Formats: sequence, structure tokens, C-alpha cells
Amino acid sequence: MSSTQLLAGIEAGGTKFVLAVGPSPAAITARYVIPTGQPAQTLAEASAWFAAQGPIGAIGIASFGPVELDPASPRWGFITNTPKPGWADCDLAGHFGRSLGVPAGFDTDVNGAALAEYRLGAGVGSASLAYVTVGTGVGGGLIFDGQLVHGAAHAEIGHLLPRRPVDDAAFPGICPHHGDCLEGLVCGPAIIARWGQPLSSLPANHPGHAIIADYLAQLCHTLIAATAVEIIVLGGGVMKTPGLMERVRDRTAALGNAYFPGTGRHRILPPALADNSGISGALMLAQLAMRG
Ligand code: ZN
Repeated sequence: MSSTQLLAGIEAGGTKFVLAVGPSPAAITARYVIPTGQPAQTLAEASAWFAAQGPIGAIGIASFGPVELDPASPRWGFITNTPKPGWADCDLAGHFGRSLGVPAGFDTDVNGAALAEYRLGAGVGSASLAYVTVGTGVGGGLIFDGQLVHGAAHAEIGHLLPRRPVDDAAFPGICPHHGDCLEGLVCGPAIIARWGQPLSSLPANHPGHAIIADYLAQLCHTLIAATAVEIIVLGGGVMKTPGLMERVRDRTAALGNAYFPGTGRHRILPPALADNSGISGALMLAQLAMRG
């Protein structure tokens, strides 16, 4: 890439596409947001915006999913079986690679955010990080020794099955696949389905605060128990609820009961890049694609 070429990034979400360009992931020089409409129109509008920004060296896409990440698959870079109308089997990476004529990097939205927080945000100086967003849905990505964790596909941390306290066993959860998985219990729409308003609108003494904190602490406990991850970043709209981060930390410590060998070395933090984790991660995916 010559010094005059830009990195391009897309944080592709179910409601909006955030587009950005810059000479590096830490230096976004232009940014544009378009609503996620029908694919043909949304992709054309995004390509036109990038084309107007100057010479692009590579593009990175951090996308909602599920997506195909297997480089050996002919469907690499596709959104696969999403319920979002029109977007199933959408060749996202192929479209932008072809329309801009540049290498394309591709991963999930939360893996992109994990990469950005690891390199530029809350994870700087650490060797391992999990990024979890708690918003319209719940999802997460993991990084160990600088590498995103990819197994046979991408992780689906939001669909872990938490333990249901006996006094909170009635709500069936809203996940269409699992009912009361973590996402089915704690995502923004689940909270509204249950209590009629966002967590941040409930009075401070409402039992919902402790219930949601418990389920999220169970997630943190599971991440620590399964991987001994050093930094857990909790982002997304639900996590902006005042006091929730502290409740999750306290409850995680209580659940762990000082057992884990790394007790005191695990930290639960908000995203240091605030709402820029996803788009900065997309630019890092562009950088990785550029290096091949
Ligand atoms: Zn689920």
C-alpha cells in the first residue's frame, strides 16, 4: 500500500452500516453512517461513498452474522443464514472486494471490536481479551496471544446457557433458538419484554438490576473458568446502565469465591474506544488483508 492509499472499514450492523476511512486504524479521517436497507441499495450506497474518498488500499468488514469465516469455503465472506430479510447468503466481502478492486478482510462485528480493544483500547499491555457486547443481541469475540480465536466457525458467546436462580425461573427468555440462553435473558429486547422498559429506566432498587448482573457475571465466570482470559470488555447499550458494570464485577467475584489461580489478574472493563471499537476493528481487518 502506498502512503497515499487509505484503509476502508465497515461495521455492518442489522440497523446501520458505519463506514470509515483513514491512513491507519487509529486515525479515522472520514466517517459515514447509512441505514441497513435492502442489500443491493445499501451495498451500492456504501461503495459509492468509499469511491469518493480517494484511493483505497484495502477494505475490512466487521459484520453482523452468522457469517462464513472458513477461508477454504466458496462462501467465505458471506452473511449466511441471518433472519434479517434479504441478507441471507449475501456475499459481503466479495461485493466490496470487487467493487473497489482491493483485498478484503472479513470477520464478525464482535471479533472486529475485540481486535480494536486488544490493540488500541482496554487490552493494551495484556495477552488475552474477550469482548462482549450486550445490546440488541449478545455476542463476543476472544483474542489470545494476539490472535482472534476461530474454531470450526465463530464463537457464539451470547448463546451460553446460564444457571437460572430459583426465584427467577419464570421468564422463558426470547431467543428463538434456545429460549433462556444468555441473549434470550439479558439482551435489550429481553429486558423490555420482561419489564416494559430498558434496564437504565428501572428504579435503582428494582430487582432487575441484580438479575441481569447475575447472568452477566455467570458469563464472566464461564469465560474465566474456561479460558483464564485476562481482560473482559463489556460493551453495548445495556452496559451503559449506571451501576451495572460494578454489579457485574462484584457478582463475578462472589461467584468465583477467590478460587481461580488468576484471581486479581482478571479485569472486567468498559470499552476504552467507546463506540468506535467496531469500526476501528474493521480498519484493522483491512490492514491485515493488505498484509495478506
Ligand atoms: Zn440463544
